[in-house]
Amino acid sequence: MHQTKYIFVTGGVTSSLGKGIISASLAKLLQARGYNTTIQKLDPYLNVDPGTLNPYEHGECYVTEDGAETDLDLGHYERFLNLHTAQANNVTTGKIYQSVINRERKGDFLGKTVQVIPHITDEIKYRIKLLGSKKKFDVVITEIGGTVGDIESLPYIESVRQLKYELGAGNSLVIHLTLVPYLAAAGELKTKPTQHSVKALLEAGVQPDILVLRTEKNLGDDIRGKVARFCNVEKDCVIESIDASSIYEVPMLMMTEGLDRTVLRKLGYSKDPKNSEKEMNAWIKFVDKLKNPESEITVALIGKYTSLPDAYKSISEAFIHAGVANGTKVKLKMLNSELVSAENIGELLANVQGILVAPGFGERGIDGKIRAVKYARENNVPFFGICLGMQCAVIEFSRNVLGMTDANSTEFNLKAAPPVIDLMEEQKYVTDKGGTMRLGAYPCILKHRSKVHEAYRIDEISERHRHRYELNNKYLDALEKNGMKATGHNPDTNLVEIVEIPSHRWFVGVQFHPEYKSTVLNPHPIFVSFVEAALAYARHT
Ligand code: GLN
Repeated sequence: MHQTKYIFVTGGVTSSLGKGIISASLAKLLQARGYNTTIQKLDPYLNVDPGTLNPYEHGECYVTEDGAETDLDLGHYERFLNLHTAQANNVTTGKIYQSVINRERKGDFLGKTVQVIPHITDEIKYRIKLLGSKKKFDVVITEIGGTVGDIESLPYIESVRQLKYELGAGNSLVIHLTLVPYLAAAGELKTKPTQHSVKALLEAGVQPDILVLRTEKNLGDDIRGKVARFCNVEKDCVIESIDASSIYEVPMLMMTEGLDRTVLRKLGYSKDPKNSEKEMNAWIKFVDKLKNPESEITVALIGKYTSLPDAYKSISEAFIHAGVANGTKVKLKMLNSELVSAENIGELLANVQGILVAPGFGERGIDGKIRAVKYARENNVPFFGICLGMQCAVIEFSRNVLGMTDANSTEFNLKAAPPVIDLMEEQKYVTDKGGTMRLGAYPCILKHRSKVHEAYRIDEISERHRHRYELNNKYLDALEKNGMKATGHNPDTNLVEIVEIPSHRWFVGVQFHPEYKSTVLNPHPIFVSFVEAALAYARHT
């Protein structure tokens, strides 16, 4: 009988220790050894999903094929594993409570008091086991957001405690990630925070099987021994996670530390289905190219959330992949669109080889984005507009080429005249904000002899969406007659998905989000083509 095994990853001491990257790295190594592996993130907040969160709260909102608005860690999982995730891969406390309360209203618990234990913990356990129930996976890695000791994490840790027993020995294990700080004044690495953190887990009834210690200096044998002794784990279960210059180096670092080997031993797997050395070859080549670029270019990213790089995580990762594919390093110059003025734009964009106008919502910062489009168009600098960036390109072209000075999106001006970007028909009667956008993958037919067709080399593509507004087809004729062409459209709804200016060196705006689908092994064709154009432009200037 097929038995799915479960790995729980918890965190202690502080947040931002890189639980998501450790989980993704371990999954990558298990996948390379031939074990079907997936990852799930449990987020202990009350929002049903991060779709309504300001990116400054929680970084980018990542969208899956099936239209789930999820935590940005799912982006890492997909980029590492080259596999699609879905709704079930991200669970929040909001989702858990919503379904328990809905069932209570339906009468599912008639006569009973509904409580955190057992009803909330049962729902958590059900969601954890859901991915395994399809019998598709050998291993499910469940990353538990937050830090052990947080009030809101308690039901999750309790669920892990119960599951460990229910699943039985050898079918699950707990990896706990902590920090070993270096005290410069003492000249020493300190293990006490780790000991306290493990104690907090033990108080909740959970003995971790493996400890991953984040550190800026190598751990000596003595430190490993001390942690093992005080925390009841075997010495080879104390794994060092040293600061790395790139997240893509972490799988190899974990392999050197033997994390995958130890995990498999603990889970009772002895013979790998695949030769991991062969499987990791492409990854190793990628990291090698990443560390040894032949050149460097700069791309300006114009957006509203530029002081938090995580707000544009998938875009910056897609540039890393596309850079490696082109043998170059892409430096991102983050520009806050609210600070891009008519006076400083020439100076801000003087030394960049490409301009990207980012996705976003609301009117704030729009003028700077439109100014950046104009600069790119008039100066023949490679331009890439994503979602709102594409809409800004249409507004700019309508105003400055078609002479429709008040052209706008009805998102910014309900009385826009003309409304070249308008609310989609299906959105007109939507009142709820959460989960109601056009979300997930939709097909798109590409026009031949376009930049995008050259990039993808296929006629039909599928890309992920997250928007409410669209190019208003009433104005398409005028745009096309004046040099802005629609080079991609949805075959079912006729929505314009891509615009280009063929007379320009490289000017592409896309209504969808290509960044979500770029992975280490499959860099995204449009990003690759844009970086190629920026490199050619660099050589030309
Ligand atoms: N605000 C725009 C819309 O809803 C663009 C969204 C985005 O950039 N993701 O259509």
